[in-house]
Amino acid sequence: MSSDEARTTRGLMLMVVAPSGVGKTSLTRRLVADHSDLHLSISATTRAPRPGEHDGRDYHFVDRAEFDRRIEADDFLEWAEVYGNRYGSPKAPIMDALARGQSTLFDIDYQGAMKIHAQAPADCVLVYILPPSLAEMSRRLHARSQDSEEVIRQRIARAKEEVSLWKTFDYVVMNDDFDRAYAELAHIYHAERLKASRNLWIEPFVEELLDEPIEG
Ligand code: 5GP
Repeated sequence: MSSDEARTTRGLMLMVVAPSGVGKTSLTRRLVADHSDLHLSISATTRAPRPGEHDGRDYHFVDRAEFDRRIEADDFLEWAEVYGNRYGSPKAPIMDALARGQSTLFDIDYQGAMKIHAQAPADCVLVYILPPSLAEMSRRLHARSQDSEEVIRQRIARAKEEVSLWKTFDYVVMNDDFDRAYAELAHIYHAERLKASRNLWIEPFVEELLDEPIEG
């Protein structure tokens, strides 16, 4: 085998979980921009768009009736209620991507990541992004002024619960320095793509290799 095209691989589902205000969006958007074999799963949500958010790019914004119709149609790999709104990961594009050897990055919450992991553990890689401190997280949430004091309080309480579950993740990256955190995330993705179990070309290649006649 000589060409890269013959190197069939299976994609993976990269779950990146972090409390809000830890810089997860910047890390994940850059990882997707830098890798043509990695696509972001665009969730459906009943939440109203925030200023600057676009339908189909940040989320598929739908009303509650449409969301419930999609649950009934079994269109979601998982869905959850977060802070009073519903969020769900559409199944079809993710399954298509895996089969084509493409990977999907999920920017979803802890419960969603764990639900998908329970369905397909071998295809999932779980990464948690740690805040350098809760004070810094609170500062960033106040600075972006998108949430009420009550929602910020809930986000910090949830972060404390999640952080204590760090052992349920495959990797933990601390975002105290964006460039270093990004480099670590990219290394994780590259190494996971190289795993023998995802490189479907190895088995037929090794079979041929073992049958190869040796001169002399
Ligand atoms: P936000 O409203 O701030 O965009 O998102 C709120 C929370 O919902 C975040 O923790 C985000 O990761 C999570 N979330 C976004 N999409 C999904 C999804 O499809 N499923 C689940 N379970 N959570 C999601």
